[in-house]
Amino acid sequence: MKTLNKFYIDGAWVDPASTATMPIMNPATNSQIGTLTLGNAEDVERAVAAATRAFETFSLTSKAERLELLERLLEATRARMEDLAQAITSEMGAPITMSRESQADCGAGHLEGFIAALKSQEERETLPNGDILTREPIGPCGLITPWNWPINQIALKVIPALAAGATCVLKPSEHTPLSATIYAEIVHEAGYPAGVFNLVHGDGPTVGAAMSQHPDLTMMSFTGSTRAGALVSKDSAATVKRVTLELGGKSPNLVFADSDLPTRVAEGVATCFYNTGQSCDAPTRMLVERSCYDQAIALAEAAGKAQEVGDPSKEGDHIGPLFDKIQYDRVQAMIQSGIDEGARVLVGGLGKPEGLEDGWFVKPTIFVDVTPEMRIVREEIFGPVLVIMPFDDEEDAIRMANDTEYGLAAYIQTGDPERAERVVRRLRAGGIHINGRNADYGSPFGGFKRSGNGREGGLFGLEDYQELKVRPPFAN
Ligand code: NAD
Repeated sequence: MKTLNKFYIDGAWVDPASTATMPIMNPATNSQIGTLTLGNAEDVERAVAAATRAFETFSLTSKAERLELLERLLEATRARMEDLAQAITSEMGAPITMSRESQADCGAGHLEGFIAALKSQEERETLPNGDILTREPIGPCGLITPWNWPINQIALKVIPALAAGATCVLKPSEHTPLSATIYAEIVHEAGYPAGVFNLVHGDGPTVGAAMSQHPDLTMMSFTGSTRAGALVSKDSAATVKRVTLELGGKSPNLVFADSDLPTRVAEGVATCFYNTGQSCDAPTRMLVERSCYDQAIALAEAAGKAQEVGDPSKEGDHIGPLFDKIQYDRVQAMIQSGIDEGARVLVGGLGKPEGLEDGWFVKPTIFVDVTPEMRIVREEIFGPVLVIMPFDDEEDAIRMANDTEYGLAAYIQTGDPERAERVVRRLRAGGIHINGRNADYGSPFGGFKRSGNGREGGLFGLEDYQELKVRPPFAN
């Protein structure tokens, strides 16, 4: 049992002003593994005051000093990889192999991307008109993160803030406080000056809203649901903060008949189910060229049935449970709505897989015979639920792919490079995956339309935490 009853403020672990608590649960066993103290507006006040004080000096550090601190952060992160992976597995149910290779690895991977970005960035440049441009840290920042990729999201916000010379208050998801607490220990170990990084645990309506409304925070960076992201924007409006949002998705996966069908369909199913479908950029709508639709369905059925579900503490490439009861109930309700609206269950369906009744496990599910207006086709489900639909030609595929309020990612499977170029150009999404290849650490991640604004990772992610200043060349 872990008792997390301290916040990291001004370089020290301090007692919260609030006494409210909530249990920390293991989703694989539905058992309590700890207790978390939730903060309040007074805790936010203390953390923002520390970040504001620290900004006065940290904002004036040189790029060389900040690069040295980032290198120390990298070393400290690498030393705690296993702790991060174990924490993530126990608090949100990602299988341990995946926690090590992807979830925790993001902490180091993104850091390397930001180090390269900071090295390559010109802090001072002369514009074509002769004026001088400098880049400066934006100010104290509020950072709010979700539970589904807990260290990935923390790294994508904390690191660019620190790299830019900004200071920050992090409010991680109240559901994944173990990995966030370890991350605060890592930042402390790296030797950042007091107040540069602060951690306040708490829920969205109390701590999150107090941060968005705070007059001394100059920026809010939020990752989570579109619903909460809109609230952060509203709460930030009165103080005219910069707001960057990474929100939901319903990403299409376009499978053309000229692709390597057996490989690409199996991979599309596995990628949708990865992290138990709890990824904002999961390819949840598989659109298949009609000439190979029946073959693709047979391949998807085989891949779906082969998907193993199991204990996340065991090594392997199985998937774990959903992260809590709310998520479980929501996924069940969405599967039921698909059935009620007349879609055909190809694989999976309602209920828990046999032998896994204790935790929030669900059956990986594939629907066919779906129509565009069904809820399972339009809404983000955030579980291992795939819908498959046929398209007639390239134009039809692009129209269907873009027929969503989201625009985070899109996936293309084709053997024709010219087609890939044509289709990429027409897709309204921030990240395109082609034939199983994804963008690397250091590339910008983010969405079009209601998937958010701003980009995270590498140079573009760094720029979100910077202000531009111009002046004419000095003359007497
Ligand atoms: P959520 O919106 O419920 O919570 C996310 C964070 O926001 C949590 O820290 C929560 O405490 C906080 N929050 C909630 N209400 C708030 C409010 N009124 N003011 C300020 N903060 C508030 O989302 P979740 O369930 O934790 O995460 C799942 C969602 O996140 C999905 O929609 C998913 O697509 C999205 N997501 C997006 C990305 C991306 O990069 N685009 C990445 C991961 C997850």
